[in-house]
Amino acid sequence: MEAGRVLISEEHIARRLREMGEEISRDYQGETLLVVGVLRGAFMVMADLARHITVPVEFDFMAVSSYGMSTKTSGVVRILKDLDAEITDRHVLLVEDIVDSGLTYDYLLRTLRLRGPASIEMATLLMKEGMQQVPVETKYVGFTIGPEFVVGYGLDHQQLYRNLPYIGVLDEHA
Ligand code: 5GP
Repeated sequence: MEAGRVLISEEHIARRLREMGEEISRDYQGETLLVVGVLRGAFMVMADLARHITVPVEFDFMAVSSYGMSTKTSGVVRILKDLDAEITDRHVLLVEDIVDSGLTYDYLLRTLRLRGPASIEMATLLMKEGMQQVPVETKYVGFTIGPEFVVGYGLDHQQLYRNLPYIGVLDEHA
């Protein structure tokens, strides 16, 4: 299955996730971390990032609505599945596949902060440069990319391409 041009190769992703995992492990030394994957896109990032985290770690998942069948943000964020874990007084690391408008990030952060975590930070594999409609302070960013719509490594277009081992730019004419 091909999806246009390869933007970030499998090797680059693996190397960057290793670096991010090492950085996270240093930052949370002596703590137990609750890693929260934002479904569905983050499942691959989370699995590969987690293998490089060396502090004690628990996992949980949230599911939020994304763009539906469109490739543009609607600005409406909906929780489809909430956390199972209580996060009060816990160190929470949200793992995202991509931050585009930042509206999902902003909504998740505001919602989860109300539950009184000891700390909450976000790690994202991809950040679209200059596309944010709200201020975004993501502590761990894998790669900064342009405004193009990307697929692969967990990211879909109409639910396809999530299994690609690289990040590709969708060929709209394919
Ligand atoms: P935001 O709320 O930051 O605009 O968008 C977050 C969500 O939109 C992501 O978790 C992802 O599901 C989706 N998204 C944003 N940009 C892209 C993209 O280039 N490709 C894909 N497949 N999904 C995207």
